[in-house]
Amino acid sequence: MTTRYHIWTVGCQMNEADSDKLAAGFNKLGYEPTEQPEQADVVVVNTCAVRQKAEDRAYSYLGYLRKLKEQRNGDLKLAVMGCMVGPRTDALRQRLPFVDVFAQPQDFEQVLAAVAPEADLGGEFWPATFPEPTGPTAFVPVIHGCDKFCTYCIVPYRRGRERSRPVDDVVREVEYLAESGVAEVTLLGQTVEAYGKDFGDGTDLADLFYAIHDIDGIKRIRFLTSYPKDMTERIIRSVAELPKVCEHFNVPVQAGHNDILGTMRRGYTIEEYRYWVERIRDIVPNCSVSTDVIVGFCGETDQHFQSTHDLLEELRFDKVHVAAYSPRPGTIAWRKIEDDVPQTVKMERLHAVEELQERIARELNATLAGTVQEVLVEGEKDGKFTGRSRTNKIVHFSGHADFGEVVDVRIEATSPWSLQGSQVDIVSPVD
Ligand code: SF4
Repeated sequence: MTTRYHIWTVGCQMNEADSDKLAAGFNKLGYEPTEQPEQADVVVVNTCAVRQKAEDRAYSYLGYLRKLKEQRNGDLKLAVMGCMVGPRTDALRQRLPFVDVFAQPQDFEQVLAAVAPEADLGGEFWPATFPEPTGPTAFVPVIHGCDKFCTYCIVPYRRGRERSRPVDDVVREVEYLAESGVAEVTLLGQTVEAYGKDFGDGTDLADLFYAIHDIDGIKRIRFLTSYPKDMTERIIRSVAELPKVCEHFNVPVQAGHNDILGTMRRGYTIEEYRYWVERIRDIVPNCSVSTDVIVGFCGETDQHFQSTHDLLEELRFDKVHVAAYSPRPGTIAWRKIEDDVPQTVKMERLHAVEELQERIARELNATLAGTVQEVLVEGEKDGKFTGRSRTNKIVHFSGHADFGEVVDVRIEATSPWSLQGSQVDIVSPVD
């Protein structure tokens, strides 16, 4: 009889990539995926602990799974994986006694060994098992873990120190994805420009771009997430030089005042941050830059927040991912720094950033009206195609494209969140 598995995922792109990798491991064992947990023999809950909301969602889903398992008299294997699982699992086991196995992020073997102890994984599971793509785009983790220990962040405790995958490994995976129809890969790392530092031989992210650039079938290369201190001129120049590498940088600033950056232990000053954004814009003209901001961090006064607001106004990012601070158990801030900004103030600041960014994004996107953008076709909805421009803008358009194709779209209307247009058959040069 076929064994079915279901994987539920919350959190960042790295978690999505981990779930895809785990699915590839299940497939290797002959298991079949199912969209319905009710039809599964094994359910894996791949969790995120970066925000309280993500944890709440996982607990609520696990409540549903507990009932499902009871209805089936225990005949359902449950695994909890990801950033909610620390090195010590006693508290989790106490809270979730019906769960069969707990595994830290990327501890795939722990999950597989628990649900299929007889399986021979051959010790080569990690480097030789590639996820099955589900569309024309795919995430490829290239560096795991993080060494930065920002005071608010749980990631280094869960994902460990920075470890880069060998260049050959990544090349093999990208070749496999290209043969399977993938046209765009996004190279992932918590701090992606740290790629190669642990090799100690000077290899960097630019070398990785060059190594995968000429793989047949790959039309676009993206990369996430940038950490300002790991940025280098060489990496920025490689983005400008290599036609397949898209001109989009996601460089989290997190706060606009040096006092708060210091409390966060981000490891850079606003002046250094500004320098790198300016270098990016000088070397890669017409690029887009997005950022992440946390409002209401410990000790953030009105004046500190005003500095963040001013910085966003000055640097005019294409997109800002904003979150209100909430202490995460196990982090330095949770242990040592008072969460002293009232929730109402946090929400006011969050809304102020959203409002400001909506205006800026509206203005920036409006300048694209009438231009022709290269769009990689990713999907179709309500009779329109959907894809992204090289600068990562979502584009909805009418036309006659195939998924995975890169087409030219003339932009006819814009909003803060997307561009709309029609496919054109003849390319016009874009300034
Ligand atoms: S750089 Fe800071 S915020 Fe980003 S994953 Fe590492 S510790 Fe967390």
